[in-house]
Amino acid sequence: MKFRKIALFCALVFLPLPLSVSAQEASTLKAKPHVIVLGVNGMELDIIRPLILKGQMPNLASVIEKGAYGKLRTVSAPNCPRVYTTVFTSTDPDEHGVTGFVVGGITANTHMLKEEPIWSMLSKPGITVDMANVPATFPVMPVNGYMISGMLTRGKNCEDGVLCAPKLSEVMGGDAVYPRGLQSELLKNVGDFYIDCERMPSAADLKGHEAAVIDQWLARVQLIREQQTKLFDYLLTERPTDFTFLAQSCEDRTGHWLYPITPFNVGYNPNINGVRQDAFPNQYIAFDKVLGTVLKHVDAHTYLLILSDHGIKPLREFEEKDPHAHMDHEKTTPVIAKHDFADGDDVPGSFFVMGPGIKNDFRLMGLGASVYDIAPTILHIYGLEQPKQMRGHVLTEIFGATDNRVAMHK
Ligand SMILES: [Zn+2]
Repeated sequence: MKFRKIALFCALVFLPLPLSVSAQEASTLKAKPHVIVLGVNGMELDIIRPLILKGQMPNLASVIEKGAYGKLRTVSAPNCPRVYTTVFTSTDPDEHGVTGFVVGGITANTHMLKEEPIWSMLSKPGITVDMANVPATFPVMPVNGYMISGMLTRGKNCEDGVLCAPKLSEVMGGDAVYPRGLQSELLKNVGDFYIDCERMPSAADLKGHEAAVIDQWLARVQLIREQQTKLFDYLLTERPTDFTFLAQSCEDRTGHWLYPITPFNVGYNPNINGVRQDAFPNQYIAFDKVLGTVLKHVDAHTYLLILSDHGIKPLREFEEKDPHAHMDHEKTTPVIAKHDFADGDDVPGSFFVMGPGIKNDFRLMGLGASVYDIAPTILHIYGLEQPKQMRGHVLTEIFGATDNRVAMHK
């Protein structure tokens, strides 16, 4: 495995610079498909369906109308680093090495990757790549483009990097930006943005000031979302690439402690859960605005893939047996919803895709599509063969019979 990592690193370090290629090659590079992936952590279909019906997510509704969508089968006991790394590699968590937030007592990081990720597979044949705020990409790795890390970035007031938010200037223990020179450009033009979402408040912080703490926290979450939207808009405008992968994590964080539950649900605390029942649905209304910004960069030749790594559901009655079931962050933080159920089918993710040759208004039923299928499908769009270690398959069902990228690229 070590050998493979070294080989991969060398391949990336010695990637030809776009400036050194001939004009003919440059025009070939230009013709590469344009793909934008927008990850939204833990998007729950139960929450977004009524919002779509009420017209409160007009941008996502337009993607559904123009494209294909469905549930996305996830891995067992899903959490973001575990699932995202399966998305990157189309391999099992035990194979890719990032089995959770913490692996062998160490915060999960890219040094643990044992399988080649999609950004490397795309970089090698000269596809330009941009990754921003995607979970489990810290420290950043060399790519044929740019990478800004996301969830699990370590920094000031976020020493372990788990479920907290260092600012770009506060990152410690590795690089959050590749290439390094991009960091000063981002600080100048985007500002000192938060890389992940805000840490959830502790029971002690909440006690006696619940409504005020909730409102302050939600205001911070919105600020983070606006900063990250500015980053996405900047990158898509000033540093456009063939392949772009952006991600948001505040929606999931909110769901864990502010999912709209009723008094009979496990963990219900009227002082917290009776206060802002619309806080979690409002996250998706706000996400839809992020999507609106991204859609400005989507034309008829662009593939847009919105993807959720898992859903999130209220805690189950059987978890009452565990006195810490509804506490997180070393058992200090009250949570009333989660997604790391042993059976991943309890909390499927979702995907929404539109682009050249993708069927319109097409719903993929059941759990036939999975998080393993994302990387093979992206490679397929670029006409690249799926490597043997990948366990997923190309989502051929979403492509129209007469205008299939397979036919166009083979
Ligand atoms: Zn979560």
